[in-house]
Amino acid sequence: MLTIDGETGEGGGQVLRTSLALSMCLGKPIEIRNIRVKRKKPGLRPQHLAAVRAAATISKARVEGAEIGSRQLRFRPQGVFPGNYEFDIGTAGSTTLVAQTVLPALMLATAPSRLTIRGGTHNPLAPTFDFFDQAFCTQLNHLGPRIRATLERPGFFPKGGGIMHLDIQPADGLRPLELMARGDVQLQWAEILLAHLPKHIAQRERDVVSDGLALSDDLVNVRIADTSPGPGNVVTVFTESEHVTEVFSCCGQRGMPAEKVAATVVGDTLSYLRTEVPVGFYLADQLLLPLALARRGEFVTRRPSSHTTTNMTIINLFTGMEFDSRQIREGAWRIGID
Ligand code: ATP
Repeated sequence: MLTIDGETGEGGGQVLRTSLALSMCLGKPIEIRNIRVKRKKPGLRPQHLAAVRAAATISKARVEGAEIGSRQLRFRPQGVFPGNYEFDIGTAGSTTLVAQTVLPALMLATAPSRLTIRGGTHNPLAPTFDFFDQAFCTQLNHLGPRIRATLERPGFFPKGGGIMHLDIQPADGLRPLELMARGDVQLQWAEILLAHLPKHIAQRERDVVSDGLALSDDLVNVRIADTSPGPGNVVTVFTESEHVTEVFSCCGQRGMPAEKVAATVVGDTLSYLRTEVPVGFYLADQLLLPLALARRGEFVTRRPSSHTTTNMTIINLFTGMEFDSRQIREGAWRIGID
């Protein structure tokens, strides 16, 4: 049984999710200790527990320690069993983070799967549904599998209740990931999602995004999403380049003026465009697992985040694979497995 220290690097939920994903893909039983011990609310939170349960269901794993607050987990997968599954986080916890836990195993399984996941679909500090769909799944699809994500309705903190579906056609193996250049930007557009909140919020955000990115009105779409069980607001910018689509977002929060929400997204987008790398800050840590599963590949990104270095350490622990991570020019790093 492989033992993982949950305090490794970032020491957050990502250590748990990457470990579960690799345990399933490689059929390796694991024990994780010190799960999120330095967080304000340590141990497994509902979103993490939902990831453990989803992984356990898909791999018929024998599990010890799967409780709220638990800091230690034993997980013994019995295989990977594709099929139709429904997972309900029960809170506004991130549906995309649960999806990312089970997707690596299911995209390499022997038959297709369909997942329905309920919870938060647009959360701060997690991939939003749009990022997951357009930035992350688009890259996975280049590697061989056919993954289609659909949003039935959005869910926001604190009410949750969003619903996303995931159709997964697996591949026999993965092609190497090659993302060394962005190519020209072909289309840039924005979407403002607003649920059960005054319309002037969207209008104010629209003005800031149009001005900041020089987008004409028809490229800033306002979507009223009153199918969401609770109120919410998110500003998203999609930057579609020749070789990659990157997605930047900021979720509206109580006490944060609409102008600031929009300006944050504009700032992140401009900073990405300036560095001329294809892979942004967040996509980088999320692409490491597919890169390792393909056993070969490379991409160019910004200075690696602590999530990125942590994921490299965990993947190395499971597979022995060494990532080559080095600066290749001002503001740009190459990360690869040769
Ligand atoms: P914690 O234990 O710290 O509460 P957690 O379980 O919520 O953590 P993290 O370990 O912090 O999760 O991992 C968060 C993941 O969400 C990372 O893969 C990161 O790249 C991704 N992420 C965070 N913000 C964004 C964003 N704005 N866009 C896309 N992805 C994001």
